[in-house]
Amino acid sequence: MKLVRPKVFLVGETRVDEGGLRAYFDHLGVPQWQTDAPSDAERIVEVMGRLCYRSFEAGLNPNVTKVRKGNKAYLDNIIQVGHGSVLEHAVLNFIFADVSRVVTHELVRHRAGTAISQESLRFVRLDTLSAYAPMHIQENEEGMTIFTRTLEQLEAVQRELARVYAIDDEPGFSVKKQLTSAFRRVAPMGVATTIGWSCNLRTLRHVIEHRTDPHAEEEIRYLFGEVFRLVRERYPNVFSDYEMEMVDGLPWVKTAHGKI
Ligand SMILES: Cc1cc2nc3c(=O)[nH]c(=O)nc-3n(C[C@H](O)[C@H](O)[C@H](O)COP(=O)(O)OP(=O)(O)OC[C@H]3O[C@@H](n4cnc5c(N)ncnc54)[C@H](O)[C@@H]3O)c2cc1C
Repeated sequence: MKLVRPKVFLVGETRVDEGGLRAYFDHLGVPQWQTDAPSDAERIVEVMGRLCYRSFEAGLNPNVTKVRKGNKAYLDNIIQVGHGSVLEHAVLNFIFADVSRVVTHELVRHRAGTAISQESLRFVRLDTLSAYAPMHIQENEEGMTIFTRTLEQLEAVQRELARVYAIDDEPGFSVKKQLTSAFRRVAPMGVATTIGWSCNLRTLRHVIEHRTDPHAEEEIRYLFGEVFRLVRERYPNVFSDYEMEMVDGLPWVKTAHGKI
């Protein structure tokens, strides 16, 4: 039995194809156009947004006499006016490890703009159990003793069932799968597992806002606090309107421009 905390791995992100983008600007007649975006994701969002009005430079569209300069100014305006759809062009790929089934069950409720791959506890046998200990448990010595003892007992149950059914000697994989699935029914909801979660930047803003809110559950607040710290550094212009306040030891990420 091991006590764990959620871990965030950013394993993929949208990348610009420089040749393709250059060819588009040649086609449009602005081969010299450049921006100061700190990441490819923010550059793609700016390009997709600007192409709507051809607002790469003044006069390219005769109706446009003035354009905002720079990626930050451009994205600030997109966020202020709520044109969140352009943020959907950039996608990030995360792996969240050591997260409970409590967290994964909450996370999969976010359907719009996500892709999900969840560790299968029909295939992956729970020979050890890891879990996150919530603050109220950690702060109470007796509560902590009951919590860890229960996890140890449930871990022993998993090994006992594996022995009773001699699963290691079972040659058929489909039988192993049926048994593993049967055993998981007596594993706790707090069992730590892994989920692959991809989302676009519009979705990510929505989920950070909702899941760091003090009304959200503690472990998912911790998880999205960690996600926010990571993405705020990497995509500063997408999150520059966000403010962070600590509530109950966890970040509450707020903005005047919610759900764009
Ligand atoms: C603090 C907290 C407490 C919660 N408590 C409960 C609870 O007790 N019980 C419970 O069942 N759930 C609960 N939830 C989950 C909540 O109801 C949502 O299911 C979850 O937050 C997903 O958010 P979303 O609905 O914005 O969907 P997302 O998939 O994140 O969608 C983002 C937005 O896209 C739009 N959208 C998405 N799908 C559709 C659609 N099919 N049709 C029209 N518009 C769509 C909506 O505007 C939506 O807000 C809770 C969530 C939080 C944050």
